[in-house]
Amino acid sequence: MAAVTRLFRSSSSSSSSAMFCIRRSLSTAAATELKSQICPPRVDPKGRNVQWVFLGCPGVGKGTYASRLSALLGVPHIATGDLVREELSSSGPLSKQLADIVNQGKLVSDEIIINLLSKRLEVGEAKGESGFILDGFPRTVRQAEILDEVTDIELVVNLKLPENVLLEKCLGRRICSQCGKNFNVASINVKGENGNPDISMAPLLPPSHCVSKLITRSDDTETIVRERLRVYNDKSQPVEDFYRGQGKLLEFDLPGGIPESWPKLLEALNLDENDDKQSATA
Ligand code: ADP
Repeated sequence: MAAVTRLFRSSSSSSSSAMFCIRRSLSTAAATELKSQICPPRVDPKGRNVQWVFLGCPGVGKGTYASRLSALLGVPHIATGDLVREELSSSGPLSKQLADIVNQGKLVSDEIIINLLSKRLEVGEAKGESGFILDGFPRTVRQAEILDEVTDIELVVNLKLPENVLLEKCLGRRICSQCGKNFNVASINVKGENGNPDISMAPLLPPSHCVSKLITRSDDTETIVRERLRVYNDKSQPVEDFYRGQGKLLEFDLPGGIPESWPKLLEALNLDENDDKQSATA
């Protein structure tokens, strides 16, 4: 982790040619050979210090599933979107520049995002964190290449939902401005096309003490979500190809809301939630 932090820092402050000078692979976890059938080995989930990445379109639920897994695996969930929003809500020098970019549905520059990520890793390192689940990073092939230069990502989970569901989910998303929890007021029932199953998702409603404090993300308007989806297809789908080529991509079509999807995702990852309960009570 220390090496990742240091090297990210040197990546973010050096010219792009210098980035290639970064020594490869200082991760403690050896890269796993994951070929066509990707199935992580079944071991005690805690203490594995996994280095995983979550990919997926806006609204797919990367944050929800990555944060649940981070609790299960005992590693930090690091979402670059959250880092950007923290910077936005501060009065720092980047705040205005970031607001303009995010509210157009565009991507922040690789340099800025790597800088924010380096700082977050440094803070984590000081607290003794190791391993991570990255959410929202890498989002360009350039970011994926830089990440590859500094560490070995073991597994990349690609969450998928049809585009009309993604739009409804983004428009229904609400956040409690006090406790920070995410909710969703959308009730989704979409007929499956081309032989795909129907998708239903019940709303995830807030408890009464959050109701009066709900806010909507400024970039969750229909125009901006459509632009974010377009940018994802343009800039981030090539990242899926990048990891598919390395045999690290686990494709996961979400079958519905959290109650249906979570157990299936654990199964796909060869994890058992009871492992966590056992180790938590041990
Ligand atoms: P989404 O719901 O679209 O996946 P996120 O919460 O991950 O959104 O990110 C919000 C915004 O922060 C993005 O639209 C983008 O402007 C910026 N951002 C987050 N991660 C990155 C990244 N890795 N590279 C560039 N911009 C990023």
